[in-house]
This record gives sequence, C-alpha cells and structure tokens, in this order.
Amino acid sequence: MSTPASLPSLTISAVRDGLSKKDFSAKELTEAALAFAQAENPKTNAYLTFSPERALAAAAKVDAEIAEGAPMRALAGVPLGVKDVIVTKGVRTTCGSRMLEKYIPPYDATAVTRLEDEGAIVIGKLNCDEFAMGSSNENSAFGPVRNPRALDRVPGGSSGGSAAAVAQGTAVITLGSDTGGSIRQPASFCGVVGVTPTYGRVSRYGLVAFASSLDHIGPFARNVEDCATTLRVMAGRDEQDSTSAFAPIDDYNTLMKHPVKGLKLGLPSEYFEGLTSETGAVIEAAIKKLESLGCEIRKISLPHTKYALSCYYIIATAEASSNLARYDGVRYTIRSTEGSTLSDMYRNTRGEGFGVEVKRRIMLGTYVLSAGYYDAYYKKAQQVRTLIARDFTDAFKDLDGILAPVSPFPAFKIGEKVDDPLTMYLSDIYTLTGDLAGVPCMSVPCGQSKDGLPIGLQIFAKHFDEATMFRIAYNYEQATSH
Ligand code: GLN
Repeated sequence: MSTPASLPSLTISAVRDGLSKKDFSAKELTEAALAFAQAENPKTNAYLTFSPERALAAAAKVDAEIAEGAPMRALAGVPLGVKDVIVTKGVRTTCGSRMLEKYIPPYDATAVTRLEDEGAIVIGKLNCDEFAMGSSNENSAFGPVRNPRALDRVPGGSSGGSAAAVAQGTAVITLGSDTGGSIRQPASFCGVVGVTPTYGRVSRYGLVAFASSLDHIGPFARNVEDCATTLRVMAGRDEQDSTSAFAPIDDYNTLMKHPVKGLKLGLPSEYFEGLTSETGAVIEAAIKKLESLGCEIRKISLPHTKYALSCYYIIATAEASSNLARYDGVRYTIRSTEGSTLSDMYRNTRGEGFGVEVKRRIMLGTYVLSAGYYDAYYKKAQQVRTLIARDFTDAFKDLDGILAPVSPFPAFKIGEKVDDPLTMYLSDIYTLTGDLAGVPCMSVPCGQSKDGLPIGLQIFAKHFDEATMFRIAYNYEQATSH
C-alpha cells in the first residue's frame, strides 16, 4: 500500500485504514508521496515547492501517536498540497508571481493550521495563475501546468496545480482558492471534485487577497466524501478573519448519505445557452440520473446571469487594484535596482514583478475606481451584484439545489486562448455567479467528451447549506462511475 503506485487511488479513509492496519507508516507514505510527486512533476509542473522537512516532521508526530495508541486524528497522514496563494510558515509562497519569488511567510493560513492540527501532511505548494488571475494556469510566472488527463491541454485555472495534483495522484487532498470559478473550473477540467464553500465558511486568514469580497478557500479531492471531510475540518469562525462566519457546521459526512428522493432541483435556462453540444449532452444525462434517483427537476430562470461577466470584471479588478498596492519593493517583494528615486523604485519593481494579466487587471481596476467613473462602473456593478444574489435567494425559496454545467467546454489546448483575454474570460461564464452571490457550489465529475476530456456538473445550494450540496453530489457519485 505504501508504494507510489497505489497513491493515485488513495482516499482519506484508505490512508487511515492503512495506518491502523500498519500496512504502512505515516513516514513511509509521506516519503512515497514526496518521491512520487517529485518524479511526476516534470510532466505537469503542478508543484512549485516541496516541503519535505515539514512533511516528515508532521508524519513522525502521526507515527508517534499511533505507537502510543492515541485516537487517530481525522486527517492522520493524509498527503496535502496547498495552492501557492495560501501562506505556509517557512515555506516559500510565490502566488505564481516573480514579485514574490523569494517570499517566505512568517505564519500559516488558518485553513492550513486546521488541516495540520488534524494530522494532514503538507507535501508542497501548488502552481497557479499569478495572484489567482486566470482560467488556464498559463499566467503563472513559473510556467503553465499541464492537464494530467491530456498533457497538451490546460488544467483550468487559477487553481490548476491543485486540480492536477489530485488528478495525477500526487496528493490525496489539495487546497485551492475561488474568486470567480478557480476551484470548480479546474476540478471539472481535470476530472476531480472541487468545492467552493459559502462565502465566510472558511477563514481567509493567510490567503493572499485578490478580490476580498469574492475570495474563498476550498478543497479538491478524488471523491465527494474527502471534500466534505476536509471542508468540515477547515470550516468555522476564526478571530483572525472578521468575514468568517459563526454559522454552525453540519455533519456533512452523515447528512450527505441521506437519499435525494424528493429534493427539488432547478435548471437555470441561462446556463444552457452557448455551451458545446457535447458538454450539453453529458450534463443532460447527469440531470436524468438525478431525476431517476427521485429528484424533482424544474426549469427556472436566473435573469441577471447575463450581467455576471461584466459585473465580476469590474468588482474583481477594482478590489485587486487596491489589494495589490502592497507589492511595492519595500516589504515582501523583489526590489528593482533600476532608477534613482523612490517612485522609480516602485514603478520599476511593479513593472518587473507583475505579469501582463496582473497589470491589465490593476489598470482596469484603477480605472473603474477613479473619480468620475466610480459611479458609472464600480457602484453600478455593486448594484447589479445585488440583483444577481437576489436571483439565487428568490430561486431557493422553493428549491433545494441548482444544477448547471461548470464550463461551456472541456479543457482547451495550451496556447489556444492566451492571446484573447475575452475568450479566456468566457470560460468562467457559469461559475462567476456563485462567487458574486456567495452561495456554496461545487463541481463533481459527470462524464467526458469524445476525446476523453472530463466534464463536471455544477451544484449550487443555499447559503451555509453545504450539507444538501454534498448530498446531491454524493448520491450522484454513488449512482454513477465517473
Ligand atoms: N478566472 C477568473 C479570473 O481570472 C477567476 C479567477 C479565480 O477564481 N481566482 O479572474
């Protein structure tokens, strides 16, 4: 069991089982995971940094507890990869940017601390689009990630490394972040499960801010159960993040096993326009499956969906332009040696440190916030955001969940969309609304294209009702073999 060959199929319960039956020790599993991830990395470029010392120290602790006969922690020995926008004490955190190429954080993100407190083993940091801006992982300063299912294709973005690591089997669970679709879209492209919890469900303390009113941390795993377990460990109020919610955390793993018979699920017509026929057919089949399990399917409308893309690219860039002001060559970043004045130093550092997409976003964001344009763009976008959120609240008055595609198309070729930002932005057309409304949503594998490219089904639920979302996903997963 502790051979690298078995890693791609391990789940949390298989790890715990193997440890308690002494099939392998946490040390053996950690060494195997590190060796496998390092050997596989040249294929996908999913990892930017490995953290063997930290991993082996954590594994030794797990082994010592087992030897003492102490109760086994929820994630004992489970290999975990962390998106490189989430800080890890003493382990380089680059955000996929030249700017932070040498940044070693002095503290851990709360989500990481909570997972480690339950025995998870951080084996490394995962590649992503620079500051999480992108949909294909091609905006990383450290090169693109390749999709393990088709190496000439993108893994999706911005959490491309997090999805690829789980798909490739180099980690059992990973963390990603989602601001406009960056967990669900890569999960869909790589054929794994990815969850964006309710806004406020998981503390963002230690998540490098992109657009604070939209940023979420969430898990990736190979099945629904492992995502539910991971979320449950991370979730809950944190004094370090004032936006983290006090809402009680349900026992997802028990509740999701209840049958779905009688649940009312909505299909928003706006999400079935403009998708490829292949994706459409796969999603249709998934809906039929849920119907056969006793769900009541209803056609609905979320009428403000058509404004989501413009609304998102105003709010997200406005917040990014402000959040990214801190990278100035003084505190965390590289520093340009060109120029003689302080302003030159700022200008040159930012000019050299940021990639093109980040600069595009900062300029756009600065523009929509500037005097004279603020009311026309930023304020308007905030009003539209309220309408988008209200669409969900209204729809959920008599629904338990909403089903939709995650992306209009499966994973595209590396290089195919890089020169056309607008086409790239369209990959997120079905995912942006979930972040704008702050509702929990996820991608669960539901089939593949003729070329064998994975396709994900998106499930939305009411605020803080992750339990129902997991229940739909789990029942679907158990009834199918994707
Ligand atoms: N692809 C979207 C963007 O480029 C979403 C990114 C994200 O969710 N972090 O902004």
